[in-house]
Amino acid sequence: MNNFIIALDGPSGSGKSTIANLLAKKLKISYLNTGSMYRALTLYLLENNIKKTDDFDKNILENINIDINKDKVFLNGEDVSKEIRDKEVTENVSWVSSMPEVREYLVEMQRNISNNKSIILDGRDIGTVVFPNAKYKFYLTASSFVRAKRRFDQKEIAKSFEEIKEDIEKRDYLDSHRKISPLKKADDAIEIDSSDLTIAQTIDKIIENMDKEDVL
Ligand code: C5P
Repeated sequence: MNNFIIALDGPSGSGKSTIANLLAKKLKISYLNTGSMYRALTLYLLENNIKKTDDFDKNILENINIDINKDKVFLNGEDVSKEIRDKEVTENVSWVSSMPEVREYLVEMQRNISNNKSIILDGRDIGTVVFPNAKYKFYLTASSFVRAKRRFDQKEIAKSFEEIKEDIEKRDYLDSHRKISPLKKADDAIEIDSSDLTIAQTIDKIIENMDKEDVL
């Protein structure tokens, strides 16, 4: 079997990481959650009191080592899987990920990690920038109402439903309006609206669009 790449892009809360995680297990391939890399870098900047673009100097990237192992994210050797989901990181990740030096640095890391293996990557620019020649490209969406409801039901964020929905819409706007690598469906990506689909149905839709030899 030849190695292949699945690019899974879409807005916050569309279910990318849940779907990618399960699909990787089912197909016995690797999984890379690229959002967690942007989050880990954001955490490092915040910890070092860098709170806006003007404070950022690209040399700082030399001090940052991000490692992803199974579901865990390590920042300079420390497990930060929980901290990268904190409110402050979530609120700052969009400006951090809009900086070209940051994107260049993480995109190269994503390409290196994906070398010589079959892998699914989830993010915002996988099908458009990181792997424009990926064998499979999917763009997962859902209404902002459904996405906010999913996050609210997870009960991991101490915010009201309305606040969560507002945060999601704000991040959608920032991610899709930034100059570099905005969130955008690749022309050749298959769009799946999961608003009325279960997780299993969404996975089935993806598999239906893959070659038999890759899903056996
Ligand atoms: O997927 P998640 O919501 O964890 O991603 C956090 C943020 O990281 C996004 O809102 C976006 O700003 C940024 N991101 C990105 N490109 C990716 C993955 C995530 O800009 N490939």
